[in-house]
Amino acid sequence: MDKQQEFVLRTLEERDIRFVRLWFTDVLGVLKSVEIAPAELEGALAEGIGFDGSAIEGFARVHEADMLARPDPSTFQVLPWRGEHPMTARMFCDLVMPDGTPAVADSRWVLRRTLARAADAGFTFYTHPEIEFFLLKHPPTRGGPMPPPVDESGYFDLTPNDISHDFRQQAIGVLERLGISVEFSHHEVAPGQQEIDLRYADALTIADNIMTFRQVMKEVALRQGIYATFMPKPFSDQAGSGMHTHMSLFEGDRNAFHDPTDEYQLSKVAKAFIAGLLVHAAEITAVTNQWVNSYKRLVGDQRAGELMEAPAYVCWGHNNRSALIRVPLYKLNKSNAARVEFRSPDSACNPYLTFALMLAAGLRGVQGGYDLPAPAADDVWTLTDAQRRERGITALPGSLAEAIATMETSSLVRETLGDELFDFFLRNKRSEWIEYRRQVTPFEIDRYLPTL
Ligand code: GLN
Ligand code: MG
Ligand code: MG
Ligand code: MG
Repeated sequence: MDKQQEFVLRTLEERDIRFVRLWFTDVLGVLKSVEIAPAELEGALAEGIGFDGSAIEGFARVHEADMLARPDPSTFQVLPWRGEHPMTARMFCDLVMPDGTPAVADSRWVLRRTLARAADAGFTFYTHPEIEFFLLKHPPTRGGPMPPPVDESGYFDLTPNDISHDFRQQAIGVLERLGISVEFSHHEVAPGQQEIDLRYADALTIADNIMTFRQVMKEVALRQGIYATFMPKPFSDQAGSGMHTHMSLFEGDRNAFHDPTDEYQLSKVAKAFIAGLLVHAAEITAVTNQWVNSYKRLVGDQRAGELMEAPAYVCWGHNNRSALIRVPLYKLNKSNAARVEFRSPDSACNPYLTFALMLAAGLRGVQGGYDLPAPAADDVWTLTDAQRRERGITALPGSLAEAIATMETSSLVRETLGDELFDFFLRNKRSEWIEYRRQVTPFEIDRYLPTL
């Protein structure tokens, strides 16, 4: 037994923890949990806990066989919202087959494998997400009306008797007790919309933290009688919820994206990484934006005079809020801050698969020596199609159907996800699209019935 496992077992005893939840994530990014008694934990750490994979979305057709959830002791945390007595703790799990090999349906493994490829090339991959979501006045009921947002506030607003502000303070307190550091938080542009930015760390830790984050937001909201949603675009006439992700590659202690002598302060590695992301962005969009609803956010245009600020075109820039990739300027003496912000992912993605694909796309650029095109200086949605074509700016997929069609042709995505997960994901998304297509929407009724 290693030190971390010993620490977990000792903590259970010392703090009288009665329940341990084993967490893992399904292919579509939904958190799953199985609770075990402390007496079972030693065996679970050594061999894993068996479960029937076929009952879980994304695993069914990938694996008929039994699987094991093997807790990762480095992720052990007491769950603060469960109260002090009796205490509950949780650990994230890796999923393995009975013979000990990694389960192909385990998206945490997909990320680990991609991180290992980066490590072979000498790189550690760091990320930090800006997570946006909405707070609604009450939980939804199936078929019922859309619950209203908790407030009418906007960007950076602080109002007396502010539900959002109190919510963020409590939620951040819980995150911090779970060892998750928050860098910024504020009210976002839309009524009820919040943003909380996590401090950067290695991508596996951040992906775990995002899963924990969503759970914490939902728990804290429910305790306050409100509802937190990560749905990408809950209101047609308001901005959606993005998960802009800042990324960098480190070589040891050195930020490999930093070059103080370059006009953009970007190293060759950073430029090739951005180029890789640009070339492969459309292919990975079915994963970074995996729902029918995701594409209602990526419209890239303006509501009466106000920006929705979500990307729709493949380009990069410095201070260009329409760009898919933004390179924030940083103080020259803060070389660690050199980074690239990828703005398409939404808050309802599977963070493991999303990070694996962003990294794979960027690495492909670095290893293939891709050239970085010129930055886009304009607001690209104000250009005509012809002007965009002239500048070599292509569009992101406009719907889940287009995104699926683009992903199907991608060897990069297939290699990164593995054949089985790749095929499952496409099957699942095709059937979501077919179900959606059959729907006659309120838009059509309003628009067509009076005249047709
Ligand atoms: N909500 C916007 C999006 O969907 C982002 C707004 C912002 O943080 N600039 O991406
Ligand atoms: Mg932000
Ligand atoms: Mg924001
Ligand atoms: Mg941002």
